[in-house]
Amino acid sequence: MATAVLVTLGAVAFFGIPFWPAVLGLLAITAAAAFAPRRSSSRRLKLKTQREVRRMWPGTGMKVTVDALPNPCFVADGRGITRYVNHEAQKVYGDVKPGGPLSFSLRAPSLLEAFDRVCETGLPEQINWIEKVPTETWYEAHVAPIFMPGSLSSDQRGGQPDFILVVIQDQTENRRLERMRSDFVANASHELRTPLASLTGFIETIQGAARNDPEARDRFLSIMQEQAERMRRLIDDILSLSRIELKAHVRPAGVVDLKEVVRHTADALAPLAADLDVEIRVEVPDRPVKLQGDRDELIQVAENLVENALKYGKDGKFVDVTLTELVETPELPQWQLSVRDYGEGIASEHLPRLTERFYRVSDDSRQVMKGTGLGLAIVKHILARHQGKLDIESEPGKGAAFKVSLPAEDIAEAILNKVPS
Ligand code: ADP
Repeated sequence: MATAVLVTLGAVAFFGIPFWPAVLGLLAITAAAAFAPRRSSSRRLKLKTQREVRRMWPGTGMKVTVDALPNPCFVADGRGITRYVNHEAQKVYGDVKPGGPLSFSLRAPSLLEAFDRVCETGLPEQINWIEKVPTETWYEAHVAPIFMPGSLSSDQRGGQPDFILVVIQDQTENRRLERMRSDFVANASHELRTPLASLTGFIETIQGAARNDPEARDRFLSIMQEQAERMRRLIDDILSLSRIELKAHVRPAGVVDLKEVVRHTADALAPLAADLDVEIRVEVPDRPVKLQGDRDELIQVAENLVENALKYGKDGKFVDVTLTELVETPELPQWQLSVRDYGEGIASEHLPRLTERFYRVSDDSRQVMKGTGLGLAIVKHILARHQGKLDIESEPGKGAAFKVSLPAEDIAEAILNKVPS
């Protein structure tokens, strides 16, 4: 304004501009100056309020992004008030309403402490904790600060973020798998160490005390051969299991005739049956039983079950292997392979655990060949890959029936009908 007055006076004095038009010009500038600042300050105020709102409530962009994440996510402000909860978190933590304290939904003390630290420092954190109730569950959470573009930088605001994103991951399944894997390694090495220790012991005896006793030496050598054979079986089973695990999620693409699998198994195990004085009775339909599967793996299933029936049910003298079509659910046609023996059977408390790795019913007196405890675990894994299932029915004294159900594939049949078998 002062400049405008001076310029006007100068113009009137030195350039002879008439006084009244100059004053009118000055008044016009004054009027414009009086309105202009008021307009810009109101815009500034509006922008400031908008920024404040953006800092309190996450925008649509942030919401759709956290909704797209597969894990439960919470967005809270720096005071610990929940500002947004994604779909997954709504599913897991119930109907959480934004606007309430985050600690109402997330109670783990270590998570809330980490949250407070992130609010103070503005640095991200990752924490793990275990919840014991109702079942043991492992969690991992990532707590990350969010600084909105346009808000004052973290340095100027003492590191306080506008929002904090909490992403929670349930790690129970991973931990369980890790534990299973380390248990498996421990069990496998223990199982291998036993026959190895016995082999070493016999070698020392043959080199020492039995050096000049041919009879004892022969006896020890045959035990050593048994132990070496047991080690070989263990290694074969461990390798089979890990091979099947590798392709656990891939459904086999081949087409197999289950009837041929059953016949092949019965032929392959005929010598063992003769040794144990057991008869294998096979009952299969006339037509081929074709389904989607891996022939070698299905042979392994049938062999493991029939071999168990021969070994553990030999007292029953018969093992019945039957193949029937399940018609209870016509929309889901299935084939059932049943292996039944009439031996001593299995007590009910063991039934749910039989398919665990290295699980053996502890009654060594019945056992002809000491098993590896991996046979039924292999069966279970192969069946999972084939979308089949195993049911075990047994009562002590009445033998046992192992029933395998496998989906009969229409597609498989369609392919096979084109190829003359
Ligand atoms: P193994 O190599 O010891 O036979 P499996 O996993 O095949 O391992 O079987 C686990 C345990 O289940 C066996 O050790 C045995 O005690 C029991 N079992 C399996 N099949 C039968 C059966 N037909 N009759 C009685 N017990 C059985």
